[in-house]
Amino acid sequence: MAFTRANAPLTCLICGSDEEATSEHIVPQTLWLRFGLDPNHKDLERYRTTLCRRHNEATGKLHRRTEVIELIENGGPFTKKSLGLLADWAVWVTVLLGLSTGEGVLPGDEARSLLRARFDEHGGGLPRGIRVYAARVSEYVRDTTFTSYMVAVEKDRRTVLDYRGTPIGFLGIAGPVTVTESIGLGKIALLVLSRTYPSGVGHNDRLDAAATTVGMERIHPPAATLPILAPRAIDMTALSEVFMPVPDGQDWSLLPDGVKFTLSMFTPADG
Ligand SMILES: [Zn+2]
Repeated sequence: MAFTRANAPLTCLICGSDEEATSEHIVPQTLWLRFGLDPNHKDLERYRTTLCRRHNEATGKLHRRTEVIELIENGGPFTKKSLGLLADWAVWVTVLLGLSTGEGVLPGDEARSLLRARFDEHGGGLPRGIRVYAARVSEYVRDTTFTSYMVAVEKDRRTVLDYRGTPIGFLGIAGPVTVTESIGLGKIALLVLSRTYPSGVGHNDRLDAAATTVGMERIHPPAATLPILAPRAIDMTALSEVFMPVPDGQDWSLLPDGVKFTLSMFTPADG
C-alpha cells in the first residue's frame, strides 16, 4: 500500500508506524526562519511529512550538520567535506520529499528501502547513479533562455525496455514523471538528477555539460578537483527544466538510441 498524504496522514513515511507519528519538516524549520519564512505556511506544506519518533530523530541528524547549514545560509566557505555533506543532505531531503509527494526521482519502494537502510542501519551510501549539482547564488533571476535536455530515467515506466533491459522506445502514458528535484535555498541552489539510461559515449560528461548551461557544477559523484562555485545568478525555472522526461524537452542528445528512434517517428522533424 502506498503511503500518501491522502490515505495515511498519520503513519511514518519511512516505516509506516503510527507510534508517536508527528508532522515533521523535511527542510528544517530553522532554515525557513532564517530566510524570514513561516515554516508552517501552506506554501511550504510539501516540505512537511509524517514521521515516527525514531525516524524523526534519525533524519533530524541530517539538519544538525553546521557545515551544511552554513553553506546554505552564507554560501561558504566550502571544502571537499562540506560539499560531500551538502550532496548527502540534498539527496536525502530529495528522497524524503519525493516519497512524500509521490513525484520523486526514485520509485516509492526503492526510496523507502534506501531511507530504511540509511536511517535504520546508519549505513547506506547515496543511491546508485544519482548526480548532484550545485551553484552558489548571487541572485535569483527569471525568464532566462535555456535548452531542455530530454533524459530517460529508470523509474519512468514510459520508457520501453527490451528483454536485456535496453531502452527501445517510449509510451505516451500521461502522468507526472520527475527526473530531477531542484532546491534553491539561501545562497545555494541544488539539482538532483535521478539515474539515467546512457545515451552513448561520454554520457555522464554530457549530462554535466548540460547542467553547466544553467550554471550548475557537479558535487556528486565528487570530481578529483573541487568545483569553482563562483557566485552567479540562478534561474530556478531553468534549473527545474534543464533535464526533462521524454517527450517534454528540446534536445535529444542525452537519450538512448532506441528512444531517439521512436521519438523520431512520433515527432515531425524540425531541421
Ligand atoms: Zn518510522
